[in-house]
Parts: sequence; C-alpha cells; structure tokens
Amino acid sequence: RGSPALRVTEWSDLVDWWPALGASSEKYSRGVVGVATGSATYPGAAVLSVGGALAGPTGLVRYAGGARAEVVHQHPSVIATGRVADAGRVQAWVCGSGLGTGDESAAELRAVLAAPVPVVLDADALTLLVDGKLADRLRGRDAPIVVTPHDREFARLCGETPGEDRVAAALRLAAWMNAVVLLKGDRTIVGTPDGRAYVNPTGTPALATGGTGDVLAGLLGSLLAAGLAPERAAAAAAYLHGLAGREAARGGPVTAPDVAAALRPVLARLG
Ligand code: AMP
Ligand code: MG
Repeated sequence: RGSPALRVTEWSDLVDWWPALGASSEKYSRGVVGVATGSATYPGAAVLSVGGALAGPTGLVRYAGGARAEVVHQHPSVIATGRVADAGRVQAWVCGSGLGTGDESAAELRAVLAAPVPVVLDADALTLLVDGKLADRLRGRDAPIVVTPHDREFARLCGETPGEDRVAAALRLAAWMNAVVLLKGDRTIVGTPDGRAYVNPTGTPALATGGTGDVLAGLLGSLLAAGLAPERAAAAAAYLHGLAGREAARGGPVTAPDVAAALRPVLARLG
C-alpha cells in the first residue's frame, strides 16, 4: 500500500488540481462539455448526466441525443441538439448512459470518438465497444479516454470479473485499452495505462441506487473539459461524487438527483 504508484486520493489533491477560475472567466474559457447520453426510451439518464455536468466547473453544457425535450425542460441552460455532429465545439464528450445499443447509437459513439477531445465512455457506450469491436479504434486515438465500468460492465469488456485485487484489475484493463479506467464500487479505483492507481476513500452505500453513475459520468466530463488531466479528473470526480452522496444522505434516502444537487455545495468548498 506504500507503493508510490498506488495512492489514496485526498482533499488536498483536489485543491492542488482544481482549475483556477479567475474573476474574468467567461463561459467559453471555463470549458464546454458535450453530453451524448439518453434516448427517447431512457430520458432520465440524459437528465442525470447533464445534471452532473452542470454541477462541474465548466461554463457551458451541450447536449446531443434523443432526450432533448426532457433535458431542456429540466435544465434550461443547456444547448440541445439531436446529433453529435450538430452539437458544435466542445472540450470533452460524455457518452453512454441510456444511449441504447442500436445502429444509430453506434453512429453517435463513432462521432464522439472522432472528435479530437477527451471522452468519457460509460454504460451503453461500453457495450457498443464490445459488440461493435470498436475497442481497437481506441488504441489509435490521440485524445484521452476514460471508461467508467461497474463490475458487470468490466466483465463484459475484459471477459472476466474484477476479482479480489481490484487495483490490478483496473490496471490490466487500462493497459489493454490504453485508457484511464474508473472501476466503480464501494472503493472506486482509478487506473492509468502506465500503471498508476488511485483509491477513492469517500464512497458510501448511499450511492448504490439507480442513476448515480450517470451523475458521475457527467461531472467527470466537466472536469475533463475544464482541463484536468484524465486520471486527476477521474480521481477527483469519484472523490466529489462520494462526498455528495454523503451530503445527500443526511436528508434521508438518496436518489440520483439528490446526488447531483449535493455536488454544488461540495464543489463550492473548492472555490
Ligand atoms: P452505476 O452502477 O453506474 O449507477 O454507478 C453506481 C455508483 O455508485 C458508482 O459511482 C459506484 O462507485 C457507487 N456505488 C455503488 N455501490 C456503492 C457502495 N456500496 N459504496 C460506495 N459506492 C457505491
Ligand atoms: Mg451506470
């Protein structure tokens, strides 16, 4: 546990990493995050991931997908369009939750991967990678990728469950995919392709409820778009998400929108 390649994320790390937002910051210089999640069938996943993105430090959220009406109704500050290709410039993409796994969804994932910016891949995007044998496409990609599997998604990607040593499991997948891996669980692990890992100490069972992973993916996208390095963005997102889960749990049983709402006071402590 004393290995320099494995560390427990601390609050002081977040303070060090946090993007400095000066008084003169305007919305575009704070970063723009694109969110390609949800569908007519799963509009909630879009609303939740956009909610996570809006809680982050970026100045603008663009949404592209099949749940425009619901997203704009819940979050009027978002610029929404139907397709990734029509979304305009962003500094990072979040793709996957509730997207569906059909041909149109695969086309949207390909459009996201073609953008020369960091991407977060979650949920259905991970299934599409496996089904469409798109994992190869990731190896040649220059811009960073962060994948955020829970155990079942990990098993689909790897062909085996994470097992006892979750740090080793995250590092194995990271090296194979040449991506940062955020392996979700009660102690979420972030692993990098070059063999470094962060253990998140803030998890709470309150987060074990539907949709919280979507909020996490959106927040992570915002941190990437704000310019944090991928492994820092991932470790920071897990840490803040855990704190928000604890904060939300003080008010009773937690739902995913509560976690998104609780991110605001938590992030406010970072200035
Ligand atoms: P998902 O399965 O995609 O909705 O993501 C669930 C989220 O809740 C992830 O961020 C997990 O790390 C977190 N989570 C689930 N169960 C627990 C638990 N028992 N303790 C702490 N965090 C958890
Ligand atoms: Mg999920």
